[in-house]
Amino acid sequence: MFDKILIANRGEIALRVLRACKELGIATVAIHSTADADAMHVRLADESVCIGPPPSKDSYLNIPSLLAACEITGADAVHPGYGFLSENARFAEILADHNLGFIGPKAEHIRLMGDKIEAKKTAKRLGIPVVPGSDGAVGPDDDAMAIAQEIGFPVLVKAAAGGGGRGMKVAHTADDLAMAISTAGNEAKSAFGDASVYLEKYLQKPRHIEIQVLGDGRGGAIHLGERDCSLQRRHQKVWEEGPSPVISPEARARIGGICAKAMQDMQYLGVGTIEFLYEDGEFYFIEMNTRIQVEHPVTEAITGLDLVLEQIRIAAGGDLPVTQDEVTLTGHAIECRVNAENPVTFRPSPGKIQSYHPPGGLGIRIDSAVYQGYTIPPYYDSLVGKLIVHGKTRGECLMRLRRALDEMVVDGIETTLPLFRALVREPSIIDGDYHIHWLEQYLAAGDTKV
Ligand code: ADP
Repeated sequence: MFDKILIANRGEIALRVLRACKELGIATVAIHSTADADAMHVRLADESVCIGPPPSKDSYLNIPSLLAACEITGADAVHPGYGFLSENARFAEILADHNLGFIGPKAEHIRLMGDKIEAKKTAKRLGIPVVPGSDGAVGPDDDAMAIAQEIGFPVLVKAAAGGGGRGMKVAHTADDLAMAISTAGNEAKSAFGDASVYLEKYLQKPRHIEIQVLGDGRGGAIHLGERDCSLQRRHQKVWEEGPSPVISPEARARIGGICAKAMQDMQYLGVGTIEFLYEDGEFYFIEMNTRIQVEHPVTEAITGLDLVLEQIRIAAGGDLPVTQDEVTLTGHAIECRVNAENPVTFRPSPGKIQSYHPPGGLGIRIDSAVYQGYTIPPYYDSLVGKLIVHGKTRGECLMRLRRALDEMVVDGIETTLPLFRALVREPSIIDGDYHIHWLEQYLAAGDTKV
């Protein structure tokens, strides 16, 4: 086991990792930018190192500074959290070169899944169903129109290097195709420095269903069921729940089995998420995330497993905590990502939290790094905290969530709490009847009661 872990992150995920380390008896090192000197993760860690000024590229993404912090403190492993360097294969390799553990997958798998075209080819080869589309990038010599017609319109043009929903354009008819390819290509060129695009069938009303996997790196791997993350705004998840209201135990066992088998074949190490769109009873792979995800507490609530703790154990050479047969899903969980944003315009609202009261009671979990008097800095993401609610049934979970949302107080800044208070009372949400475009349509309709 590791003796001292450096947490290369900030905010609630840094705190989350810190908690797992404490339980395992591992010493912790927090790193922080000058803007985060008063942050909770710095206060609670055993040691802390300031590694640079506020911009992420000069601090949280600064690899030489991180290595120096490991050296100074004698940390023997790094947990990258999510975002920042968590899916940077080069970072994982550099740590290995310095005899430091990386709490994450093998560098080769991070690299493979970071390239969307390669990821899709790999998924296909491993027997995972993918969205019908072009075989790889569509080059200037390819007959894009013929490929698109074979797929059938509407077609989605996607950037090979894409991420965060950028470099994506829909061609509804053949007339739109040339324009969609050039716009997506240009956007991808400026955002990622790589203009290559590929084509995919555009699914009209799918749900976003993702399977949580866990591998020991030696051919052992299990799945922990799904999370339904269909409520999105600008491709950003807003509300996540598990189990999905529309996935039957048979469908779960089928797709989960396929994913676990694929991870066994790859000898995947650590936690990962295989993301699908789901429409008319079919799953279509879109990408794999090779890190712990923001929404992991949903799975923790229904499986009773501590994913971050297991991630650390496995990175240190440990075994999987349970066999597939021992995985049982109990009850229902919902996570709301409460952001420091105006609930109607979504304009960021950093600033000082004047009063803060997190809800409590049975089945309520708050993962947050804020406190009364804390100032949310303007430089990073706008997450105030995640409210995770667990109940015996989806109905009980919604009932509890409604109560918890009404109880929660975050004053001094604007937050998205009013949006969640409205959503939890919406008939479509109560019925579980929504898809990936539902939230944007609801917001566009303007009768949000927010
Ligand atoms: P990114 O890496 O940019 O987040 P993804 O491939 O994960 O891109 O897709 C992000 C979101 O875009 C999905 O959650 C879904 O809402 C939408 N999307 C992606 N592919 C398709 C598709 N073929 N049809 C319809 N919507 C899609």
